Amino acid sequence: MATERTLSIIKPDATRRNLTGKINAKFEDAGLRIVAQKRLHLSTAQAGKFYEVHKDRPFYGELVDFMASEPVVVQVLEGENAIAKNREVMGATNPANADEGTIRKEFALSMGENSVHGSDAPETAAEEIAYFFSGLELVG
Ligand code: ADP
Ligand code: MG
Repeated sequence: MATERTLSIIKPDATRRNLTGKINAKFEDAGLRIVAQKRLHLSTAQAGKFYEVHKDRPFYGELVDFMASEPVVVQVLEGENAIAKNREVMGATNPANADEGTIRKEFALSMGENSVHGSDAPETAAEEIAYFFSGLELVG
C-alpha cells in the first residue's frame, strides 16, 4: 500500500444541512487526513466541466444543476490507499445499497443528492485535484 491523495467534494445537499463537520469526522476517523479544503459555489460551467465524463448520461443536466445549486466543500484527502478507503467511507452511489456506517447510508437523500463525491482511480484523482487546487494549497 502507498500513501495516496484523492479529491473529495461535500455536495450541496450536505452543506445545506450543515453536515460538513460530521462528514469530515467520518474521513478523519477512517485515518484520512484533510490536507486541503475550501468552500466554493460552482458555476454551471465549472460543475459541467468537472463532470464532463458523464456528459452523455441521462442524469448529466440534473447533476450539473444540482452541483451548482448551492455551495460545495472541495477537499484533498491523504492516507494509505486513500482512493479506495474514501470510496469505502462514502458507500455505494445509491444510498439504498450503501453499507451501514457509510456517509451515504447515513446522510444521502437520493441517488443524485448523495452527499459526497470521491475520485475513482489514481489518474482521475490527480486530474480532479489539479482542477481545484494548486500545489501550494496542498499541505500534507
Ligand atoms: P459515484 O459518485 O459513486 O462515483 P458516478 O460516478 O457513477 O457515481 O456518478 C456521479 C454522480 O452522478 C453520482 O454521485 C450521483 O450524484 C449522480 N448519479 C449517478 N447515477 C445517477 C442516476 N441514475 N440518477 C441521478 N443521478 C445519478
Ligand atoms: Mg464517480
